[in-house]
Amino acid sequence: MAEAAQSVPVVSYARISADTARDGHGVEDQHRVNDETAARLGWTIVHRYTDNDLSAAKASVVRPSFEAMLKALKVGQLPDGQQVRGAIVVADDRLTRRAGDYERFVDALTYDEGRVYADAKGPKNLYSEDVESMGLFGVVISKMEVRKMQRRTRRSHRRRAEQGIPVGGKRPFGWKDDKLTLAPEEAALLAEAARDLIAGRSLHSIQLEWREKGVRTVHGKEWGSRSLKLALWNPRLCGWRKHNGELVRDANGVPVQGKWEPIITPKEWMAIDALFSSRVGPNAKADGTITDYRTPSHLLTGILRCGKPKADGQICNAPLRVSTRPDLSGGYIYQCPSKSMGGCGGTARNGAKVDEYITEAVLAKLEERAAATRKEDADWGGEEELNRLVTKRQKMLQAWQQDLVSDELFFPENHKLETRIKELRAERTRHALQRQRAAIVDGDIRARWNSEKFDMAQKRALIREAMHAVIVLPVGGGGRRAFNPDLLVPKWKEDF
Ligand SMILES: [Zn+2]
Repeated sequence: MAEAAQSVPVVSYARISADTARDGHGVEDQHRVNDETAARLGWTIVHRYTDNDLSAAKASVVRPSFEAMLKALKVGQLPDGQQVRGAIVVADDRLTRRAGDYERFVDALTYDEGRVYADAKGPKNLYSEDVESMGLFGVVISKMEVRKMQRRTRRSHRRRAEQGIPVGGKRPFGWKDDKLTLAPEEAALLAEAARDLIAGRSLHSIQLEWREKGVRTVHGKEWGSRSLKLALWNPRLCGWRKHNGELVRDANGVPVQGKWEPIITPKEWMAIDALFSSRVGPNAKADGTITDYRTPSHLLTGILRCGKPKADGQICNAPLRVSTRPDLSGGYIYQCPSKSMGGCGGTARNGAKVDEYITEAVLAKLEERAAATRKEDADWGGEEELNRLVTKRQKMLQAWQQDLVSDELFFPENHKLETRIKELRAERTRHALQRQRAAIVDGDIRARWNSEKFDMAQKRALIREAMHAVIVLPVGGGGRRAFNPDLLVPKWKEDF
């Protein structure tokens, strides 16, 4: 198309950081250089993004303009609808200093065909693997320089961590002032809370119990949900330690065991870690917050969905709500909300009977699973691959350090290996969590379910773990019919 060549709409990005400030390359200079680049290439700058980023070395720094630019590039337009087909920066390292951000930038820009990118030296084809890895390589280098300084200050902490010696600060809850011996009462509380959490109890419910018991933090304060979560998520509980967000491991990748007494087993801690850090938990979101924070007082709220067909043939699918009906046995019904509330108002069912039927179905499924898990091989299948890749990465690193492998070969390959190793570790954690949950559900799940300690949040968590939803089909004909369980269609989760 002829008009496309006329004027390509692009954005200009500038970032002010410690070194750009020092070199006198201010934001205006960067945008001016970008103007010249655009003029040379016949592109039109339709928006300017600027980030002030004087402490870019910290991984926690968020660049609002950078993020906004990624969004615009991905959808191909600015919030006002103006088309965007590419971006111009002075140089790759003005874009970001972190390899992860650079990859996200490339992802966003190349999201569609025909996007353009240029720096002061001219256009670059980001669709080509070569340039991408070169760019990434550039970022890796500058990132390495930033990290070099940070490493220096962290080295002593790191050394102590590797030796499993506690570092600085007040004693952690659960241990005495020496940070090594257990404070028995606190340790017992933590152990119980950890196991309850793995079994599906909500953080909120544990927090309430601790408050009721008058348990205080080491600073004498009441426990909040955040402090409790951090305490339970601390790998110290099982004798491990995190440094800069990663578990401290020895050369073989095995977590270093600290010198303090542990409270729970590594497997239990990994189950908690999986709960908080990934989506595998029934009521834990990726960021570790608990979705079931305020537990509904009925078992299947949000789980039952209306199965009545609409005019277009699709089912209504609205979540059923509880409505009290003192005249009925059980005293409440689940019903589809009215049209004005987003439903069709066409389905209703006796609440107590539905609860009873679905409970029975879930318990049967849990017992079935417990029996199957007992038979199953307890080992995780990926251990061999993980060990192989860790060894391979070790060898590559050595080869690179001895200049036997070029940078161009090493960085992309190393990145691939690290990504896969990360995946495998996550998989292993998920597996551990599943085993752990199975072990807890094993034994007499029926007795547990009916015990007083097994609260609504735990029941709901288990149900959510087992099924996506239950579709409630409409009762044909008019009048009140006998309760028909065939009209309840559980949507079980496949891997359950
Ligand atoms: Zn409906």
